[in-house]
Amino acid sequence: MMRRSLTAKQAGLTLLIAIVLSIVAGALELASDVRTLRAEVREQTEHTLRLVNGTATEAAFQLNPDLAEQVIDGLFAAGNVQQVVIRDDFQRVMASRELGRDSQAGWLIERLFGDILHYHANLDYDLGPGSPTSSVGEIELSLALDSLGNAFVERSRIVFLLSVLKAFAIAALVVAVFHAFITRPLLKVHTAIAATDPRRPGDWPKPALGNHDNDELGELVESLDELLNAFQHGLEQRDQLHQISTLDGLTGIANRRCFDDVYAASWEKSLRDGTPLAVIFLDVDHFKAYNDHFGHALGDDTLRALATALAGVVTRPGDLVARYGGEEFVCVLANTDLDAAQRVAERIRQAINALDLPHPDADRVTASIGIASATPADDSLDREQLLALADQRLYHAKHAGRDRIVTSEAPG
Ligand code: GH3
Ligand code: MG
Ligand code: MG
Repeated sequence: MMRRSLTAKQAGLTLLIAIVLSIVAGALELASDVRTLRAEVREQTEHTLRLVNGTATEAAFQLNPDLAEQVIDGLFAAGNVQQVVIRDDFQRVMASRELGRDSQAGWLIERLFGDILHYHANLDYDLGPGSPTSSVGEIELSLALDSLGNAFVERSRIVFLLSVLKAFAIAALVVAVFHAFITRPLLKVHTAIAATDPRRPGDWPKPALGNHDNDELGELVESLDELLNAFQHGLEQRDQLHQISTLDGLTGIANRRCFDDVYAASWEKSLRDGTPLAVIFLDVDHFKAYNDHFGHALGDDTLRALATALAGVVTRPGDLVARYGGEEFVCVLANTDLDAAQRVAERIRQAINALDLPHPDADRVTASIGIASATPADDSLDREQLLALADQRLYHAKHAGRDRIVTSEAPG
């Protein structure tokens, strides 16, 4: 589509310009032709009149109409003649002839040749040496405007036909050259841009334009390349920032902000799908004592180890484990009822036990877990209430002795 229209527009414009230029050149050529033609016609006609002058004078002197007729025969034989009249010196017509048809021609021909049609010559008889020449008559000749015009029109037609042919030839040449040097490389650039993956603009198929490296087209490609690479750099920075803003700096798992977003989105999806949604709250037991005994640095290592253990259990797409803050973690489990959530929590507890991290006041590091599940479409709970419920059950787990999972209001 693009390919055709650009070349077609270029061809049309070039042809138009070439035709206008050729017509102007043709008109100038014709104007110069007209001058030459007028001079030739005048000179030729005057030359012919000089040639017949002697014979015509003889005819007038002898008052010989036959001879005058012969002169007229000769003049008409030379062509282009409309009318000839030969008179004696009493202005009596001795011989005359006019072409039957009227000389008809267009306005332009009239303007161009109208003033060189009529010729007049005196017939002066030379009586011999020492005597003055005396006028014995006159000859008048008119040229046929239409035959002059026809020659001119014929020539104009050829000139204009050649102009148009020249215009087409020039246009074709210009279009071919422009297509090869400009349109095709531009289309290459366009194709490359169209093939660019907007997520990876820096990896665009940068076109090789050969000998355009040092001209504007080459610069265009270089500028585009720089722009797309800068764009990609910006995208990468954005992704990095996004990652930083959603990840917990200590553990590398999702942070509280990420959890809030994912939890809200999961709630909406469960509401639409009519599926249950579960939340698991987890708090490390007696972690203050752990820190006090082993120091904050080891405490941090332990938080990282716990996060990794949790992430190893909560792997299903659509599920998320996040650090809620301090030594508290939270999981959101899509399409999960209370029983299924309890099984996940159990696996989490086992994973933490399996770490077998020493604790100053207990056998090992443990955690308390509270779980709640709701079907947003059916239950009267709202989003915050589900979270609060899980938190409340975590509180019950703490009070019931820690290192356990609580799934209901009655402390288990
Ligand atoms: P329990 O939850 O069993 O009731 O007792 P606890 O000692 O864990 O509870 P508390 O909320 O009193 O203490 C939480 C401690 O967790 C306080 C702080 O020392 C520790 N903690 C919180 N955030 C971090 C952290 O980022 N790094 C380390 N090393 N410790 C942290
Ligand atoms: Mg706590
Ligand atoms: Mg705690």
